[in-house]
Amino acid sequence: MNEKDGDDFVTCLICQKLMKRVTNSHLKRHSLDFTIYKAKFPLAQLSSLKSRKKYSLSMTGRKLSTELRQKLSKIHKGKIIPSEVRLKISQTQKGRKLSKETIEKRKLFYKTYGHPSKGRILSEETKKKISEAGKGRSPPNKGKPVPEEVKKKIREKLKGRPLSFETRQKMKAARQNISLETRLKISRALKGKQKIRRNLEKKVAKPNKFEARCISLFEENNIPLKFVGDYRAGFFIEGKIPDFVATNNKKLLIEVFCDYYKIKQYGSVENYKNKRESLFSKYGWKTLFFSDNDIKLKTKECLDIIKKELN
Ligand SMILES: [Zn+2]
Repeated sequence: MNEKDGDDFVTCLICQKLMKRVTNSHLKRHSLDFTIYKAKFPLAQLSSLKSRKKYSLSMTGRKLSTELRQKLSKIHKGKIIPSEVRLKISQTQKGRKLSKETIEKRKLFYKTYGHPSKGRILSEETKKKISEAGKGRSPPNKGKPVPEEVKKKIREKLKGRPLSFETRQKMKAARQNISLETRLKISRALKGKQKIRRNLEKKVAKPNKFEARCISLFEENNIPLKFVGDYRAGFFIEGKIPDFVATNNKKLLIEVFCDYYKIKQYGSVENYKNKRESLFSKYGWKTLFFSDNDIKLKTKECLDIIKKELN
């Protein structure tokens, strides 16, 4: 038997004889049967590699009847798989990709019947083993950017959620130091705070007609002033935004206003001017105020005052 192809034969692990199959009748010679033989040699094969391959090929794609599957399941239930066999199974399963169809089927199954391990009570020993195995392993999505699609989903899910008192306080504190744009976002998140939102949105509609007129007036007269009344310009002093700022290194701010709105908002024009002026002066800014009527009726005088201040 020296030149024979090893794949054609299997070895009896008791007497080392080569044969096509280890049969029950052969095992009888050793006073054994399949069950005892398999228990003695868990990895032992009962037939040659060739015939096993043939069988496997013939089984590929075959669907087992429910009846047979239940039978097999009954046979295998409670069976303890030897660690060598388990290792082998694990190796052949590694890197295996499930077909989309199979994945969908499983998902449906889990959805209907729950995950098979759901509700299973693990022993302390098992839990410890799982914990040990997981140590040092990082989640597969660690360091990977979250796709825009997923972000959108999260955002949708979080929309309109009630916020805890603590969170609202945090947001409030943070608001002192952040841009109007961000404040708008927060205010949108805070449902029911409609008033804040309306006020902020009003501020966003910049420049208004009057301010736009001032912008062109200053431009036409070559006055070094920049309109920063739009929050997007990013000019804030304790969260307040003046209308114009000097661009020639003078610490000068220009506020243009309509009496009507300031009286409505501050009670009086004086109160408005005082409040703004004292705030800005804290940071070394001088502020000049011009009402729409000043600009309209005494344009030249207004421009002269500004020019003088900027020289
Ligand atoms: Zn034998």
